[in-house]
Amino acid sequence: MADGFVLSQLEWESIPGAYETELAAVLHPDAPLRCNTYLMRSPEYVMLTDPGTDNDQTDALAGLMLQWTRKIPRQAVVCLTHCHADHCLSASRILEKPGFMASLVCHKLAADALRSGDASMTGATILGTVNPHAAAAIALFALPTSAGVSRDMDTPGGKLRCLTIPIGPRDALQVYHTPGHSPDGLSFRVGGALMIGDVLCAEGPHCTRLPGYQAKELGHTLDKLLWLLDNANIVTVYPGHGEPMDRTLAGERLRTLRGELNG
Ligand SMILES: [Zn+2]
Repeated sequence: MADGFVLSQLEWESIPGAYETELAAVLHPDAPLRCNTYLMRSPEYVMLTDPGTDNDQTDALAGLMLQWTRKIPRQAVVCLTHCHADHCLSASRILEKPGFMASLVCHKLAADALRSGDASMTGATILGTVNPHAAAAIALFALPTSAGVSRDMDTPGGKLRCLTIPIGPRDALQVYHTPGHSPDGLSFRVGGALMIGDVLCAEGPHCTRLPGYQAKELGHTLDKLLWLLDNANIVTVYPGHGEPMDRTLAGERLRTLRGELNG
C-alpha cells in the first residue's frame, strides 16, 4: 500500500462525548487477516491503536505522528488491544523510528509476551508470521499498577476493571480489561468511541484456535461490554476487523455471540 493512499483516506472525525479528541480509522474490511488501525489525537497525545502488519502503512502513519509531535509537543503512544501478531507486528517500526519517541501501551501479559518473544501467545506460529517483539512497554493492569487511576465497576458479567488515563485538559482514555479472545485483551474508550479489538472475532472459527482463547471469559466480557454500551454513552464501536458499528448493531452482535457461546 502506498503511503499516499493511507494518508489520503484518513478522515478525521470529532468523537461524540469528547471535548478535543479526534479519531481517524484505517479500515481493511475486505482483508480479514489485516486488522483495522485507529488513530486519535488530542492536544497532548497522539495515539495509534493496533498498527497491524503493513510496513508501508505503518511508516506513513508514523511519519504523520512525528509531524504532529513536532508541531505541538505531544506524547506519542502505540496502544495494543492484544498482542496477536496481526495487530502488532509492525509496532516495533514505530518504536524504533530514529528521532521519534513513542511508548507502547498494552496489558502486562502482552508486554511479557512481546519482551520474551512468546510465539504462541502472540499467535505468530498459527498466523504464520514472524514473531512480534518489543523490548519495553507500559504494562497496564500490572500489580501494583503505576499508570492511570484504577477502579472496578460492578456489571452483570462481574467486575469490569478500568484504568483512567488523562489525555488532555478535559478528555481521558478509559482502558478496560476484556479477556476471552485472548487473556491480554483490552478495550479503549474516549468519549463515545469504543475500540474492542477482536472480542467479536470469536464468531470466526479460526479465532478459537488461537492460544489463550477462553469461551467462559469471553462470555463475561460480552456481558460487561453490553453493560458498558448502555452505561457509558457509547456511540460507535470500532472492531479490530470489519466495519465500525453504531451502538444498536454492536449490541446485537455482542448478544448474538453471547447466545452462541451459551448454546
Ligand atoms: Zn486476535
